[in-house]
Amino acid sequence: MTGKGSTTEASSALESTSVGPADRWLVDGVIEGLRRPLAKAITLVESTHPDHRRRAARVLDALLPRAGGSIRLGISGSPGAGKSTFIEALGLELIRRGLRVAVLAIDPSSTRSGGSILGDKTRMERLSANPNAFIRPSPSGGALGGVADKTREAMLICEAAGFDVVIIETVGVGQSETTVAGMVDLFVLIQLPNSGDDLQAIKKGIVEIADVIVVNKADIDPVAAKLARRQLAGALTLLRSSAPHRKPVVLTTSASKHQGIDMFWDEVERLHRSMVDGGELDAKRRRQAVDWMWGLIDAGLRERFRENSKVKRDLDSFREAVAAGRLSPGAAASRLLDHLEPRAGEP
Ligand code: GDP
Repeated sequence: MTGKGSTTEASSALESTSVGPADRWLVDGVIEGLRRPLAKAITLVESTHPDHRRRAARVLDALLPRAGGSIRLGISGSPGAGKSTFIEALGLELIRRGLRVAVLAIDPSSTRSGGSILGDKTRMERLSANPNAFIRPSPSGGALGGVADKTREAMLICEAAGFDVVIIETVGVGQSETTVAGMVDLFVLIQLPNSGDDLQAIKKGIVEIADVIVVNKADIDPVAAKLARRQLAGALTLLRSSAPHRKPVVLTTSASKHQGIDMFWDEVERLHRSMVDGGELDAKRRRQAVDWMWGLIDAGLRERFRENSKVKRDLDSFREAVAAGRLSPGAAASRLLDHLEPRAGEP
């Protein structure tokens, strides 16, 4: 490491405490690729209990050097587009090719309704029964705008467990796509072959962040599927005119008939390899990690702000005063923020 002597303070802050004996088996078990420790480690990082948070941070630190080896794939699409059918077909294809695959499925409905879209249908039965696959629903909710902020940590744990491919599935609702795109190498959008679905995705700006677009259910109406493919490719060329070096990839598949899945994977591998070779992957992951840190800092600051006793005391009256025009928003914000300053010895 260069510059070690000059950053004594930073490096001492970076020193992590090692995992306790109780969690050693978790770390070792994950590294060995054992299922129970893997599931337990993910449960630990998902916990909001302060003790668990501390333990989880150490477990993650211990696993981090082992992470980074997977192809990280995000898969999104509106409900019914065929995501689970597609992921099952893809997972089985990957296993056929000798790879191990982990699927983390974010279900935005789970926190809102208590029920779950993912829970009430039988999903990926054949894949989940396969010893080379690991499927886990990832609870949504948390600091980063309601999307699973623990999914990224679960992904790193799966990587440390040696999975070759980690798929993060999200339903096309709210901000989840952007968040998922911010933690994966390649983001895939699954579309239905009708223009309504295309327009929705274009309007929401998802088409722009997608690296690969799959027009699924091509078996139902192959002509419509081809047309949708052409239209999407055209839209992508326009939207991506700022990055002409990256040719948009649009494919048609029939997930339920397992058609086009092998071609899809060949395409993903090709894209991933070119990102590795060009140094783009490394740069992207570094940028994503730092962005993630900032996201967590923003969320943490907001939480501290809201929990601050003086802020709690003053917030209502300041809000009233700003609404009534007696206090400027700038002055109110700055006085409330000043409450955060003297953290030590706060009443
Ligand atoms: P999800 O909500 O996006 O996960 O969609 P599902 O995978 O549950 O699929 C929704 C429905 O579409 C199911 O009844 C699937 O059997 C069906 N489906 C998925 N892929 C295809 C396909 O390629 N062709 C046809 N005809 N049906 C499909």
